[in-house]
Amino acid sequence: MAVRRILAPGQPAQHEMRTAWWVAQAAQVLLTFIADLPYTSGMTQSHNTHDVAIIGGGIVGMATAMALVRRYHVSLIVLEQESTLAAHQTGNNSGVIHSGLYYKPGSLKAKNCLVGREAMYRFCQEQGIAHDRCGKLVVAVDESELPRLDELERRGNANGLKGVRRLCAEELRDYEPHVAGIAGLHVPETGIVDYKQVTEAYGRIVTDAGGTLRTESRVTGFRRAGSDFVLTTVKGDVPCRYLINCGGLQCDRVARLCGVEPGLQVVPFRGEYYELVPERWGLVKNLIYPVPDPRFPFLGVHFTRMIHGGVEAGPNAVLAMRREGYRRTSFSFRDSLQMLTYRGFWKMAWKYWRTGMSELHRSFSKKAFHHALQRLIPELRIEDIHPHGAGVRAQALDPSGALVDDFRFVEAERMIHVLNAPSPAATASISIGETIAELAGRNFSLPLAA
Ligand SMILES: Cc1cc2nc3c(=O)[nH]c(=O)nc-3n(C[C@H](O)[C@H](O)[C@H](O)COP(=O)(O)OP(=O)(O)OC[C@H]3O[C@@H](n4cnc5c(N)ncnc54)[C@H](O)[C@@H]3O)c2cc1C
Repeated sequence: MAVRRILAPGQPAQHEMRTAWWVAQAAQVLLTFIADLPYTSGMTQSHNTHDVAIIGGGIVGMATAMALVRRYHVSLIVLEQESTLAAHQTGNNSGVIHSGLYYKPGSLKAKNCLVGREAMYRFCQEQGIAHDRCGKLVVAVDESELPRLDELERRGNANGLKGVRRLCAEELRDYEPHVAGIAGLHVPETGIVDYKQVTEAYGRIVTDAGGTLRTESRVTGFRRAGSDFVLTTVKGDVPCRYLINCGGLQCDRVARLCGVEPGLQVVPFRGEYYELVPERWGLVKNLIYPVPDPRFPFLGVHFTRMIHGGVEAGPNAVLAMRREGYRRTSFSFRDSLQMLTYRGFWKMAWKYWRTGMSELHRSFSKKAFHHALQRLIPELRIEDIHPHGAGVRAQALDPSGALVDDFRFVEAERMIHVLNAPSPAATASISIGETIAELAGRNFSLPLAA
């Protein structure tokens, strides 16, 4: 439309503009052709049918793509709705490489976090991605938290963590001189990294192996065409034989779109951060966490030294009225309506309304946020922190109102749906990708790579 208006009759630059328009069209055709080249290789059935389409270019989708191209001879496409990879949970998280301390022994979280953590350190080393295995402290500030600290220590040992050490009040200050607490744990295997950089590195490995990444390609429709699926995107139809849904905050909707009832609903929880002013970075050497409330999958507001410098404080966990809503005022009629008409939501709200209200209060009150942080570092003054963005967690909620704790991967006919991949899914991403690739090997007929 814009080009037509520019070429309105009588304009002096008409000829040049028309030439420019044709050049632009030709370039677009050429670019589309180049972008589609990988589709034509491998074991595709027709020139534009992919073996596997992955929906979602977050860290889970990209780790899955990387595992598939490494294991199988496969033509693969990743469809991402935004203009860059890692635009949502992955690019707005705390950047912590979790040790595996918190998770129920034997759970998918525990297994994948432990394997994934070491794989993450190796990957960062191989790829030259900045990271630091700096260790962290979990700090109990009063007697009531000691039984939970004992349980964490027990879990850490049961999960096979190395070097977890129980500390008394004085020993805490050997690690973090400004911290106040009566006891704690030092966890040396925890680290920090930038997960956006990691996801981009996964992406390079995928494209180098012939896979295709297509951004600005939101999947909006699904149909079956013989033995193939056809995904509708804003950039045209994408036929594929198998599909993997790694849609994060939209994963339940994507599952439904593909005819699979997820049996849960994603509820978005915004996590807001503050940042320490540079003059006060010295208050925090590495990572300082409170003892978490075991009823919730969130870890409580904590201090995190960031890999590119600076110290973050947060995140809290506030119910969000929009799935990709990063501000307090973010609102989506569709997202809110879907949440408020879900039975599980009201059961959860009934159970946890007190906690919900106090999180909401802490979201609006800097004083309340500061108060929570000051329990760990009493010297912290309110003027030492200022707001610093937010992330939104995709938390799966079942119809009984229970927050789904463990990772959930659901297999359906020629499909795999990742329906719950909360923290520590970024840490565990390489292991999650391998797990899904193994499921794909069993359920899809994919030839092994030479
Ligand atoms: C505040 C916060 C702090 C966290 N801290 C940590 C931490 O320190 N360490 C850790 O290990 N984990 C942490 N996590 C958890 C971790 O970030 C997530 O578990 C992980 O990023 C999930 O990755 P994902 O690929 O499943 O989701 P996402 O990163 O959200 O990716 C999903 C992608 O799917 C795309 N998509 C959705 N629908 C469609 C569609 N229809 N068509 C095409 N594309 C679509 C989205 O645009 C998005 O890019 C944190 C999370 C949050 C929110």
